[in-house]
Amino acid sequence: MKDDNKQTYTPMMQQYLKIKEDYADALVFFRLGDFYELFFDDAIIASKVLEIALTARDAGSKVSMAGVPHHSVKPYIQKLIENGYKIAIAEQVTEPGKGLVEREVTRVITPGTVFEDEILEANKNNFIASLLVTEHGYLLTYADISTGESFLVDKLNKKEVIDQIKTLAIKELVVKNQYDTILIEELKSNGIYVTIHEEVNTHDTKWNEHLELNQRQGARHLLNYLNATQKQPLSHLQKIVVEENKKYMNVDFRVKKHLEIIESNTNNQKTTLLYHIDNTKTAMGARLLKHQLNHPLIDLNQINQRLDLITAFLPSQYRSELQERLSYIYDINRIVGKVSFKSVNARDLYQLRETLKQIEPLKETLYKYDNELINNLTNKLDNHQELIDLLEKAISDNPPLTIKEGGIIKTGHNEKLDELHNINAHSKEWLQNFEEEERERTGIKTLKVGYNRVFGYFIEISKAASLAMEEDFGYERKQTLTNSERYISPILKEKEDVILNAKDKAINLEYELFVEIRDEVTKYTYSLQELSGYIASIDVYLSHAISAEKNKYVRPTFNNLREVKIIKGRHPVVEKFTNFVANDIIMSEGETFLITGPNMSGKSTYMRMFALLSYMSQVGSFVPATSASLPIYDAIFTRIGSSDDLSGGKSTFMVEMVESNEALTYATNNSLILFDEIGRGTATYDGMALAQGMVEYIYTKIKAQMLFSTHYHELTALADNYEKITNLHVKAREEKNRMIFLHQVEKGASDKSYGLQVAALANLPKELIKRSEQILKQLENKEDKVKVDLFNYDDEEIIIDNTLSIEQEEVLDGLERIDFDKVTPIDALILLKNYQNKLKK
Ligand code: ADP
Ligand code: MG
Repeated sequence: MKDDNKQTYTPMMQQYLKIKEDYADALVFFRLGDFYELFFDDAIIASKVLEIALTARDAGSKVSMAGVPHHSVKPYIQKLIENGYKIAIAEQVTEPGKGLVEREVTRVITPGTVFEDEILEANKNNFIASLLVTEHGYLLTYADISTGESFLVDKLNKKEVIDQIKTLAIKELVVKNQYDTILIEELKSNGIYVTIHEEVNTHDTKWNEHLELNQRQGARHLLNYLNATQKQPLSHLQKIVVEENKKYMNVDFRVKKHLEIIESNTNNQKTTLLYHIDNTKTAMGARLLKHQLNHPLIDLNQINQRLDLITAFLPSQYRSELQERLSYIYDINRIVGKVSFKSVNARDLYQLRETLKQIEPLKETLYKYDNELINNLTNKLDNHQELIDLLEKAISDNPPLTIKEGGIIKTGHNEKLDELHNINAHSKEWLQNFEEEERERTGIKTLKVGYNRVFGYFIEISKAASLAMEEDFGYERKQTLTNSERYISPILKEKEDVILNAKDKAINLEYELFVEIRDEVTKYTYSLQELSGYIASIDVYLSHAISAEKNKYVRPTFNNLREVKIIKGRHPVVEKFTNFVANDIIMSEGETFLITGPNMSGKSTYMRMFALLSYMSQVGSFVPATSASLPIYDAIFTRIGSSDDLSGGKSTFMVEMVESNEALTYATNNSLILFDEIGRGTATYDGMALAQGMVEYIYTKIKAQMLFSTHYHELTALADNYEKITNLHVKAREEKNRMIFLHQVEKGASDKSYGLQVAALANLPKELIKRSEQILKQLENKEDKVKVDLFNYDDEEIIIDNTLSIEQEEVLDGLERIDFDKVTPIDALILLKNYQNKLKK
């Protein structure tokens, strides 16, 4: 309909429609003077989402319109982005004057391409990723364009892709085409913003040249999309770091969530590990700490390097001084990013200068530690003296936020500018001086400088004097009055120009000079990013050292015997809210602990404590215990808290089985498995049977160390049949039919399951409890009679081999879902090779 009417619209509206055609999937912010206007459906959407007035404009015919002021546009953009919209900014690119102002889309803003401080959170990365299918699996290339940090992981399967995307909280995923509909749908249903972008760059840059050919594709794809949306070179993108999945402990998103490492299960940040160990002072430090917490290591040397640095920062003598120094340091990476985006303002450069000026004092403080490791880091800190000098000389001390209204360049930086400012301030004085000089030069005492609108500044000489003039002194006669002659002089003309335009010129020149300085700063992109990285490290290790002291953590040690020896371990979060009872964990290779005890006694807390201590150790952090010696785990699997997933849609039992299966499939004898009350979601005998089956399978086949808490008291008998299955129980005392929880974990099985006592604790009616006790007695008598032979385990019979492997299932699944209308022949080939490789595994 819009197009039919095109001819009836005003030229401006036709211009709008042409732009809108190219950006159909975005809301077009059309710059009109001091406003960005939205038209047609865009206006209706904006008025609803932004709660702004919907008006109409006569543009040949009436069209809907909504507008936001350009100087305060950011909150509006933020709200639209958060609601999943894309925004195309169409700016005026020619000066308003005669005719239609030209407009062009200068940038497309999407959830993954925001770089405005006002919209981003300082302590969090904002990642955008390209996801491609290659012969070897999925390739995920991701970058934070506000900081320039860039990474890649490849050879991923579907589960790992989803896991990475969730773990890294990737804001926007760019895919090449739609054939992988299930994955895309799954990601979308997880709230991930997915963009389809087909084109791929063909040339490589410093950003990706170091990668294998196969891996470069992702960078080419992502860069093509970034260029298409940002429309300018992104010189600050840092060399892509290849994140080898093998370098890290295998802990998936769900496990991290269960353990509340960074994200809380209840929306209360205080229940997360991060909250209690984050003492960072800089934004880049905070981001690095998050990265570390998301990527626990498996390499002993790397872990020990981190622990050594924490140890180095333990002495507290200079701590507050160091923290203070760090607190003055601004977000260098994001400033560098803004320089590259040309969105930096003088205030940012002022902050950069102040930051760089902190580096020398920071180094002085660091050297006081007199520690070799710290010295090594300190030596690498370059304060960029030349840059300080330039910024100090050039950028004024209290610059405004805009760069187009002057007031940003200091006096003394540029002669021409100083002259302009001088003229501005002293034009009157200059004219007086000029008048005097001219009087002297010409010898005409009555010479005067005057001004009128018609010819601007002129020189007026009395009739008599002018008649007596023997030469013209370079003057040109302009006007004859009754008593005087008026002249103009080239110098005066020139000055007039300068005087009249001094202000405008000064502003323009300031802008030009600013751009020069900005370009100069661009040259330091790489070394500033390096500096930022070193400061982040210092901040993070200092932060760990502070937590270690504040929270009474110790340095963990690691052993090759796969033994666990944690003495007086504590849960780093629960201990903040309770009077925590510390517990030991002593476990040998391949051992399984069966933990029983009443509800609310502390079984889950004990298990999570174990997981957290291992996790923290491998992050390279100190841990809450009096001592801790641990093996290095290749993975942690958990199945915790059956109540957690009730809102997830799937039945609890199904979730339980899916999660358990992950451990059964991927765990090795170097993994740690925590199963918390498996089998709750189904009938007693089913549940018990499954629980026992799992314990036996893991114990005999996988040989991973495992903590298995259960409300099936019957399972405690397993300990009699397997050498390394050990019963533990959490002590509780009954007092006058009431439970007192001691939270003390000890060897041996608990004597009964205590469910009814806990019910009494919850103040259920006494009569009900009495009756339940009767029923229980009857049940317990009955169970004796149907005692099954729990330990008749015949290997041969149990092995069933007709199930599909995960790879095979993925291939079948994929084949079934391919939409051949959307696959190019090349992609189809790649996909086939990918499937073949999977089947070869
Ligand atoms: P269970 O899994 O046995 O039902 P939880 O581990 O969920 O019990 O613990 C219940 C509550 O008891 C926790 O929320 C915590 O407040 C408290 N608790 C658990 N372990 C300890 C401990 N070691 N010291 C102090 N309080 C504890
Ligand atoms: Mg529990």
